[in-house]
Amino acid sequence: MSTSAIATTIDGNALAARLRTDVARRAEALKIHGVTPGLAVVLVGDNQASQVYVRNKVKACSDAGLHSVLEKYDATMTEAELLARVDALNNDPAIHGILVQLPLPAHIDANKVIEAIAPAKDVDGFHVASAGALMVGQPGFWPCTPYGCMKMLESIGYDLRGKHAVVIGRSNIVGKPMALMLLQKNATVTICHSATPDLKAMTLQADVIVAAVGKRNVLTADMVKPGAVVMDVGMNRTPEGKLCGDVDFEGVQKVAGFITPVPGGVGPMTITMLLVNTLEAAERDAASRA
Ligand code: NAP
Repeated sequence: MSTSAIATTIDGNALAARLRTDVARRAEALKIHGVTPGLAVVLVGDNQASQVYVRNKVKACSDAGLHSVLEKYDATMTEAELLARVDALNNDPAIHGILVQLPLPAHIDANKVIEAIAPAKDVDGFHVASAGALMVGQPGFWPCTPYGCMKMLESIGYDLRGKHAVVIGRSNIVGKPMALMLLQKNATVTICHSATPDLKAMTLQADVIVAAVGKRNVLTADMVKPGAVVMDVGMNRTPEGKLCGDVDFEGVQKVAGFITPVPGGVGPMTITMLLVNTLEAAERDAASRA
């Protein structure tokens, strides 16, 4: 962590590095039992952003001593062919986690493919069984981005009990699971979205704000209570092409108590939690065989 003008910046790169070292240590310990945690990443089509994401995920795996397989298929792959691949990976003992990179080509039903992944290998946490487990507080895999946000709060020793958390965005992969995780830690949670009439009235009450919208400057300094923790999930581009989040970082850091930057905040934590989930899938598998 480094201090800025007023808010303390939560350094996602530094926290991610610490967690990845721990993943590597635990992966090494599993090898004694003859198990190497394995992740299969499946990419269909030639979406440029997806190509970068999957490369980063596979590299992060090998850097942490995990086994990883990247399966790339042409955009013409049929839904039936993809479902057959998922089925084969479900039955492959060397693979503990399966990630099908989204978006998929329009002729493939993404929900059908995600539901075909064995819940025990659903390291992205997108399967309805994973969503249901989070909802009722049972063990399962948590979606990596909100899970990473929770780890960032944990890293600053933040006690959510009785705090008011406002989540901006209600997607199935970020906003909704984020709200459930905060609730599980005893925060009082408000979820805002595009039909929220007065966003500022909500965020001004918040002790913790998570912005997960995908629009620049959704959160500005006048919308933040002094001392609040501000977490920026958004990934956008400035007109000059620079990566930026949803939060007006320059302004908000003068009001907030803690803030996550973009880049170097939530982003590196997302891949890290994928490694953590894959490792845990392997540990659970090993324990079930012991
Ligand atoms: P999404 O599915 O497009 O959801 C965006 C949410 O924002 C929706 O719930 C939408 O409301 C809400 N919204 C839109 N305009 C709003 C406004 N003016 N005020 C309040 N809420 C508004 O996006 P997502 O997948 O959750 O991702 C959100 C952002 O996080 C994107 O920039 C994405 O690139 C980024 N992201 C980053 C990471 C990472 O690793 N750092 C990972 C995942 C996503 P409605 O539901 O009413 O439409």
